[in-house]
Amino acid sequence: MDWQEKFQVSMKQLSGLLTLITFSSIFNLMEKVTITIIGAGVIGLAIAAEVSKKRKDIILLEKNEKFGQETSSRNSEVIHAGIYYPENSLKAKFCVEGKMLLYDFLEKYSLPYKRCGKFIVAVEKNEIEKLYLIKEQASKNGVDDLKFIEKNELKKFIPNIRGKSALFSPSTGIFDTYKFMQTLETIAKNNKVLISYNSEVIGIEKVNGNYKIIVKEQDNTTFEFLSEIVVNCAGLYSEKIAQIVGINTKSAGYKIYYGKGEYFSLPGKYKNLFNSLIYPVIPLNSKSLGIHTVLDLQGMIRLGPNIFYVKEIDYSVDESHREEFYNAVKRYFPFIEEDELSPDMAGIRPKLQGPGDDFKDFVINEETDKGLPGFINLIGIDSPGLTSSLKIAKYVSNKI
Ligand SMILES: Cc1cc2nc3c(=O)[nH]c(=O)nc-3n(C[C@H](O)[C@H](O)[C@H](O)COP(=O)(O)OP(=O)(O)OC[C@H]3O[C@@H](n4cnc5c(N)ncnc54)[C@H](O)[C@@H]3O)c2cc1C
Repeated sequence: MDWQEKFQVSMKQLSGLLTLITFSSIFNLMEKVTITIIGAGVIGLAIAAEVSKKRKDIILLEKNEKFGQETSSRNSEVIHAGIYYPENSLKAKFCVEGKMLLYDFLEKYSLPYKRCGKFIVAVEKNEIEKLYLIKEQASKNGVDDLKFIEKNELKKFIPNIRGKSALFSPSTGIFDTYKFMQTLETIAKNNKVLISYNSEVIGIEKVNGNYKIIVKEQDNTTFEFLSEIVVNCAGLYSEKIAQIVGINTKSAGYKIYYGKGEYFSLPGKYKNLFNSLIYPVIPLNSKSLGIHTVLDLQGMIRLGPNIFYVKEIDYSVDESHREEFYNAVKRYFPFIEEDELSPDMAGIRPKLQGPGDDFKDFVINEETDKGLPGFINLIGIDSPGLTSSLKIAKYVSNKI
């Protein structure tokens, strides 16, 4: 019997006897695994599902009690087309390829999504020329389906909108990220990945060509095991994990800044006011895509996210920011009243791009050159991380 079979037998024996089984209680059956993935956000789950197609003895460790409790469930749920990123960047390539993989996956597993498209709307005349720059950048990235929409045509799509003209992106969409992650978790489990929740990685040491992983459980007990390969997908904490294994993250360029993004919602009376996403015109090197309208699959509308840097992880929404959101939305829809906006939720982007910095790409590095063979860091996986997740998983799988 291999350790996974022993694990399953052990789980069956224990089930019904215990309501809370700590992972360490059965873990002494196993001393070494091949691959340890840290973090069960969308990236860790996608990697677990992909890598387990070929490799066995994989463990996925997550400090929270469930998958996707952090950035992967605090975002706009948009399938991005890949329009704005510099050509040949990982963000551009992974977004464009990831988008196609994602649509195929959602179709294959009958998961909820809408290819709703998005309008980038020029409200003022001087914004129109910027639409050309955006279209040009999109083409460089292989996104050739953007269409110019003139004022009258725009009004046919969205009768109440104020706008001079727009770019329409037909390949932009929205999807149900919870069901997507749930499906990835199921695939990983079916491929015998051992997923351990309430398990926080607190130490990693290099030992005889392997990595000793030290894990703290919910009841504060710890256990340790060896792993040949480690994949760091810890999102906002990925810099911390890199530090734990001994990397000087400052000199490596792995410093993570927290780029907070808040959302405000519109009342139900505006449900289905329009059926596509509406984005402002932004300069190409912006830190975010600007406060836009976010649709959910039921047609409810949120506005967001804004962006500002914070020092602590805190998901509260500052009500005093309502005016910023109101100013953004009233450009397109002057009839919406400020007091109709309600604070909704917030997410935090793990950004390599600090205040005043230029564009920073995803970092996905196998760290042999830092004396850490088999250690793979994923740092700064901010937007378009959701869209790119399946492509990132294939890329990491090839590195393994
Ligand atoms: C406001 C906002 C809007 C966004 N909108 C979009 C969008 O519309 N489209 C798009 O493509 N992308 C979007 N993104 C980006 C996208 O959400 C992220 O790129 C993606 O969710 C990152 O996933 P992740 O798995 O890397 O991180 P996370 O979801 O944060 O997962 C990391 C996991 O690691 C776990 N972890 C951390 N430390 C440890 C430890 N020591 N031990 C064990 N586990 C640990 C955490 O608990 C967490 O579950 C948005 C992001 C934000 C913030």
